[in-house]
Amino acid sequence: MSRRTALDHEFVHHIPEHLADGVLYVSVAFATALHSCCCGCGREVVTPLNPNDWSMTFDGESISLCPSVGNRSFECQSHYYVRRNKVIWLPSFAEAKPARRLPLWRRVAQWRLSIPWR
Ligand SMILES: [Zn+2]
Repeated sequence: MSRRTALDHEFVHHIPEHLADGVLYVSVAFATALHSCCCGCGREVVTPLNPNDWSMTFDGESISLCPSVGNRSFECQSHYYVRRNKVIWLPSFAEAKPARRLPLWRRVAQWRLSIPWR
């Protein structure tokens, strides 16, 4: 399996049954983009386009997705940005360092919440 570093895009009305490797399919009608995982594992990556999930930018030539694509639920744990049809790899979730400690105000807030009311 080799990591892909670029994607082509294709605007479609209907999502094809079999996704070609290296193609980001965008269905405006279904507000969804999908592609086959860029690590080459072949898993289908669905990125719904809506204000709570992903947003897509089409600059007339290439597509960017925001935020990053993180395939936490896949074995490959792939994590990358799609920027202007380029795939920018990020450390996988497995490699990534454990989450930073919460900021102090959050810790204080949690500590306060943990005190039972009297
Ligand atoms: Zn993968």
